[in-house]
Amino acid sequence: MDKENWSFKPIGDANPKVVLLTFDDAPDKYSLAIAQTLKRLEVPAIFFVNGHFLENDENKAVLKEIHEMGFPIGNHTYSHVNLKELNEKEQEREIVKLNNLVEGIIGVRPKYFRAPFGSNTEHSKKSLRKKKCWS
Ligand SMILES: [Zn+2]
Repeated sequence: MDKENWSFKPIGDANPKVVLLTFDDAPDKYSLAIAQTLKRLEVPAIFFVNGHFLENDENKAVLKEIHEMGFPIGNHTYSHVNLKELNEKEQEREIVKLNNLVEGIIGVRPKYFRAPFGSNTEHSKKSLRKKKCWS
């Protein structure tokens, strides 16, 4: 950091664009404003969405707009559950149900997944690796 003007500079030859922002629990009322600002500043980011935020048309439109601005959409489970508290079938349903919903809105399935509370399970990791949850 340059204390002269408090700006950040890359260390040595480091790529100054290595910062990747991710936003969880989208889309909510701030997501669109965040996306618009990032777009203006040309900052890449992934928006991780939940299904229960996508049950009304207003938020569906927000998701569509964020997607059309070029931001990747990630899966953050349908109802923001702790996967460790669910059985294997329920875990898959949480992921697949949201993938289906997102695909129905923007036409593509999420390529990224982040478990709520960072609470991944062996089963969810295994399923995601095998792409079982994505089809
Ligand atoms: Zn979350």
